Amino acid sequence: MSEMTNTICPRCEGNGFIRVKDLLGEDIDQADCPQCDSQGEVMLPIELTFVNEDGGRESIIKKAEVEEWNTLKYFL
Ligand SMILES: [Zn+2]
Repeated sequence: MSEMTNTICPRCEGNGFIRVKDLLGEDIDQADCPQCDSQGEVMLPIELTFVNEDGGRESIIKKAEVEEWNTLKYFL
């Protein structure tokens, strides 16, 4: 089993909430992040993370395409 590590939530980027947009892409609301339960951090297998320039640990899947996001869900 992989070692798990605390990682900045890739969905809300550590904010604990996500922006809700309308069909035109305008921000219309905010919602608690369902990925991290508004904690701003998630536990991920260490091989799916990297340390950013600020010394924080981020998911390598953060910038991935939406299809790959489904792969991340498998680990969560
Ligand atoms: Zn989150």
